[in-house]
Amino acid sequence: MLNTPVNQLAGIGPAAEDSLHKAGFFTLWDLLLHLPLRYEDRTQLSTKADYVPGQLIQLEGLVTRSQVLPARRPIHLLTLQSDIATLSLKFLNYQKWSHTLPKVGQRIRVYGQLRTDLHGQGELLHPTITRLDNHKIAPLPTRLTAVYPSIGTLKQNLLRKAIADGLERLKNTTLAPCLPHTSLTLYQALEAIHLAKPGDQMALTSGQHPAIQRLALEELTAQQLLAANARQAIADSNAPALSPTQDLTTRLIQLLPFTLTTGQQTIWQQIQQALTEQHPMHHLLQGDVGSGKTVLAALAATHTASSGYQTTIMAPTEILAEQLYATLSPWLNKLSIQCALITARLKASEKRAQLVAIADGRLQVIIGTHALFQEQVRYANLGLVIVDEQHRFGVAQRLALKNKGAIEQTIPHLLLMTATPIPRTLAMSFYGDLSVSNLSERPPGRQPIETVVIPETRREAVAERLASACQQGAQAYWVCPFISESETLDAQNVQDTAQWLKGRFPALRVGIIHGQLPSQEKEKQMNAFAAGMLDLLVATTVIEVGVNVPNATLIIIDNSERYGLAQLHQLRGRVGRGTGKSSCVLLYKAPLSENGQARLSAIRQSQDGFELAELDLQLRGPGEVLGTRQTGVGAWRVADLLRDTALHKIAQDNAQLLITTQPNCVQPLIQRWFSTRLLFAQV
Ligand code: ADP
Ligand code: MG
Repeated sequence: MLNTPVNQLAGIGPAAEDSLHKAGFFTLWDLLLHLPLRYEDRTQLSTKADYVPGQLIQLEGLVTRSQVLPARRPIHLLTLQSDIATLSLKFLNYQKWSHTLPKVGQRIRVYGQLRTDLHGQGELLHPTITRLDNHKIAPLPTRLTAVYPSIGTLKQNLLRKAIADGLERLKNTTLAPCLPHTSLTLYQALEAIHLAKPGDQMALTSGQHPAIQRLALEELTAQQLLAANARQAIADSNAPALSPTQDLTTRLIQLLPFTLTTGQQTIWQQIQQALTEQHPMHHLLQGDVGSGKTVLAALAATHTASSGYQTTIMAPTEILAEQLYATLSPWLNKLSIQCALITARLKASEKRAQLVAIADGRLQVIIGTHALFQEQVRYANLGLVIVDEQHRFGVAQRLALKNKGAIEQTIPHLLLMTATPIPRTLAMSFYGDLSVSNLSERPPGRQPIETVVIPETRREAVAERLASACQQGAQAYWVCPFISESETLDAQNVQDTAQWLKGRFPALRVGIIHGQLPSQEKEKQMNAFAAGMLDLLVATTVIEVGVNVPNATLIIIDNSERYGLAQLHQLRGRVGRGTGKSSCVLLYKAPLSENGQARLSAIRQSQDGFELAELDLQLRGPGEVLGTRQTGVGAWRVADLLRDTALHKIAQDNAQLLITTQPNCVQPLIQRWFSTRLLFAQV
């Protein structure tokens, strides 16, 4: 039942299904774990006492007037006459949707935050509207209305309907297995979260509610079971002991345009040693953005190739895979190591040819995204897997590799590289056994990035500074939270920002890059920027990880109050990669929340990724994060490692108890929480 495909749920047509799949939602279970950001209480109509500016109110009444106020962007205004008051309903940028507004004479129910207009009159901006039939009674909801983190452009109501339908289907089924140490059933917990009772909102959003704790405990228990399994399986396996027949790594080191830092040398010794052993290496290489991890990947791949084995290198996005290929292939080619990039864009015939070359061992280093995990990729003799900046790669994925090696009972060595530091104890419990190294020194010649925090009202001045820097040969990024104008959220977007800058500074060569561009176009823009043909790249956070253009020395982050600390640090790391002095401008929209203030001041004061990551964990609060789930440490779906520390011990006990007393519960629990979604999700 939990595995019901999303397209069977009420209201999910092909377009919605597509958006859901793109965002990694395949089953009802996936949707049920999409926890509300917050709740709205629409169970009662407001009274006169509630009618206070700033309050969220709900009223019913008659539309008595409809006007359009002329402006560059006309304003649509409705007048609502209710028992309590007569007020305005205001809609900005509604030209395209004006036909959806209620007409004069229509009875409606509205929900929104009361403000006062210039004349001291009450108004609601973009309220939620329910049309009321003049003859029928429309009962008020009895449960809280959940507000979900957005998924693509899907409407909240659509998500609510699909989730409610899913819960209805689950109502009378038994959801095995049951979990020790819980008082709620899984269904009760899910219902309490999605169809929440008035009064529960605080406990739910803070995660203290028994329903959330119930889910978190189950997740942590499943994680413990998985780790136990994986440790066992890995302990039972061997890896190929990689011993090179030629000393190509020394030649690579001579070829490099720079000298390895002491840190890089030490870590390389460590990795090299581990690769020659029969015990599977599991190495986590942590190093802040720009610390020079890629060259270590190149060395490890070269070592593996010269031992007669293949290496596969996986990046979280196509852009990053392309960048890795662009960096690595010239080096490897000089050593006559055959290297290829596998992307979704390859023609079917090209792809077939490459798959054949992987299967017969001609290709020695294969670079791509997680698509490389698909079953159709068969390796001749995979010896090493390198995973760059992908924190969702855990024990489950590692076990899947077991079947990828050609030789029975061997698993390839594994090198994980990350700029997001992971506390060691946590890493151990998530990944099983592993060794950790830290690249703490930065390559020579790097200067700190000057970081300033500026209110968005000074956007004009910032733009001028940008234009003059570009005139002097600098390159810059401008990052916005959205691709195009958002219907509901008042935040900057790539399209309008690029238009504005182009109009304002005609000489500026402006490119655009965001997740909805075809990857060919993304690559074109990225290459043009890297080649210096563009001065400015206006982008969404697709440029977040790994993108390396050393000549880029200025980054402007719009609506910086919307991002987590780790993300800001990653974004800022796009500059300061060469020897030029770099700056980062954080534009924010006032007023800042306390949390937002703390984040911006931390990022301004510190350049230390480790320090910032710790702070981030402490500061990150629900509702502050952008629509997308943060791919944080371990990518928990419900559990929060700081909040739920008390559950860790119980989860460990649970796992032990299940293994000894209910062994048949073990696999189903692991399946539920760590299913194929993690293994094969297209990132
Ligand atoms: P990250 O750790 O973020 O993946 P990269 O590997 O992309 O960082 O390295 C960032 C930049 O530093 C690249 O341009 C790379 O060529 C350069 N670099 C790496 N190691 C050194 C070094 N020892 N000396 C000088 N530059 C280096
Ligand atoms: Mg990198």
